[in-house]
Amino acid sequence: MPKKNVTADESAVQEKAVAVEEPVTAEAAEKPVRKTAAKKSAAKKTETAEAAEKPAKKTAAKKPAAKKDATAEAAEKPVKKPAARKKTVKAETAESAPAAETPAEENLNDITVEIYEEPAEAAPPVEEAPAEEMSLPQPRRSVAFIGSECYPFVKTGGLGDVMYALPKALAARNCDVKVILPRYKCIPRKWQEKMVYRGEFMMDLCADGRSFYVGIMEYVWDGVVYDFIDNEEFFSAGNPYINLIDDIPRYCFFSKAALAALNYMNWVPDIVHCHDWQAALVPIYLRTLFAGTPVASAKSVLTIHNLRFQGLYGIPTIKYWSGLPDHVFNIDVLKQGYDDANMLKGGLAYADMITTVSPTYAGEIQTPFYGENLDAHMRHHAYKLRGIVNGIDTVQWDASTDSKLAANYDAENVIAQKRANKRALQEALGLEQDEGKFVIGLISRLTDQKGLDLVNAILPQLIDGNTQVVVLGTGDAHYEDSFRWFEQAYKGSVCSYIAYDEGLAHQIYAASDALLVPSLFEPCGLTQLIAMRYGTVPIVRETGGLKDTVAPYNQYENSGSGFTFDRYETGLLLDAINRAKTLYFTERERWDEMVRRDMARDVSWGVSAEQYRALYLELKP
Ligand code: ADP
Repeated sequence: MPKKNVTADESAVQEKAVAVEEPVTAEAAEKPVRKTAAKKSAAKKTETAEAAEKPAKKTAAKKPAAKKDATAEAAEKPVKKPAARKKTVKAETAESAPAAETPAEENLNDITVEIYEEPAEAAPPVEEAPAEEMSLPQPRRSVAFIGSECYPFVKTGGLGDVMYALPKALAARNCDVKVILPRYKCIPRKWQEKMVYRGEFMMDLCADGRSFYVGIMEYVWDGVVYDFIDNEEFFSAGNPYINLIDDIPRYCFFSKAALAALNYMNWVPDIVHCHDWQAALVPIYLRTLFAGTPVASAKSVLTIHNLRFQGLYGIPTIKYWSGLPDHVFNIDVLKQGYDDANMLKGGLAYADMITTVSPTYAGEIQTPFYGENLDAHMRHHAYKLRGIVNGIDTVQWDASTDSKLAANYDAENVIAQKRANKRALQEALGLEQDEGKFVIGLISRLTDQKGLDLVNAILPQLIDGNTQVVVLGTGDAHYEDSFRWFEQAYKGSVCSYIAYDEGLAHQIYAASDALLVPSLFEPCGLTQLIAMRYGTVPIVRETGGLKDTVAPYNQYENSGSGFTFDRYETGLLLDAINRAKTLYFTERERWDEMVRRDMARDVSWGVSAEQYRALYLELKP
């Protein structure tokens, strides 16, 4: 994939970010590499491996001292210190038990990053996995999740949901789970205050051995240990993703620091489970610079949540910041095209196992249309590629307890209570108040991935006096503008809420009759799962996880969970919506049965967490 294109693609997520900084970093990154690329040697490798090991020894002495060497002294920038003070380990553990939280929302960045509060219904914090595990005969497995976002600390999309819910589900299934995340400054203060200081050390990172501070802040919650990698120099921006020029160095640092932190804490997991390009260098570090250190005994799993985002940049920059040896910059690992390095591609080559978030997507990404220029690479590594569909956290998403809803409900009273939610939403959003209207919701990042061109093309034909459309999303300016235009053009029938709003999302899931997900491609998709859980019928394109999770309505058997269409065509989307409307307006009992069927479906992490566990056991029998 040409660098230019991917940079643009990356921006689908990264456009949510704060103002782009001057590209000084890129220049700075490339200059040193010219001086040092030729000098990279085996000596450097040994030194780095030692650097990772040294702090572990220091831990035993309970006094992690800064590593001083020639390269550290030569480091130009002063080392940033953590905000929190050091405390004894005993005190940390006691303090890490959080008090019950009240539900409230706080948005520290109204452009993109929604800040979450701990759900009111969250179970009281425990440091041990729930008792359920005691009855399970399977061997215990330890897993370190390494990724760039995690609800409720920071989330921009489905990855954040998975990083929260899957570790929790695994902890309840006889797994020791640590989640390693960057300690972004945008993590709300209420979470920052709960973190306790776990230690610090210096780590060399770049090709010229520049040394960086690594702090570890820890928070234990619901059977899962969250370790936040602290370094203000890298993580003080307002958003997790800024632009590739800044993101490449910070995620090189993060990937290496995560492994060094595991060595430092003397916690060697059976599996390191990495997520997306931001953590994709981990499997490479594990087998190169960390070979021979304790953590190298772990097996690596790399999960692709969206193949479109790859971390593609010039070889000199990635070589400089990662400090990885020359031999991994070959065409089978990191190199792509003439002079680019692709962090995801490299990670896929080195990972012991690759997973993606649905079986259908696992097949699709081996084809040129969905393969994002990596389809040949995916085919080459298909022998270690699995598709495991995502679930949702059924405590977080529960209409019977959801405090954000106007009226709570379960499968018994869903039909009546949905009407109450519909009226409340219509009133709140300035739509015509009529519970007889067919309300279609759309909750999405506004990017071309989500099939919005189809929606734009047919929206006027949907507005027939009986239908309302509610859009919630942020993203590409032209989609934001077109949906704003539709709201003006069809006042009372269309509402376009251009924002990231967790509370409103819950209300739309509960109040809508149908949820639209007509994606061009969709690795798994969570919105259709949440919709079904809330008794809202999904209308989806048969791609990726949408195909795996939504069974098409069958009028002869009166079965299925939603309405689907296959080819990416406006006529087929319109037809699917019209089939849904026909059932809704002419055979309401059948519609209501489908609503109840959807609510009864198991969309929890149960089955999938078992599949991940089985995979871990397969890697480490
Ligand atoms: P992706 O990860 O591609 O963005 P998913 O369907 O996997 O899509 O996950 C989207 C998640 O983000 C869901 O939890 C959805 O409710 C949430 N979400 C998306 N857009 C918004 C928004 N504008 N406001 C609130 N939540 C949103």
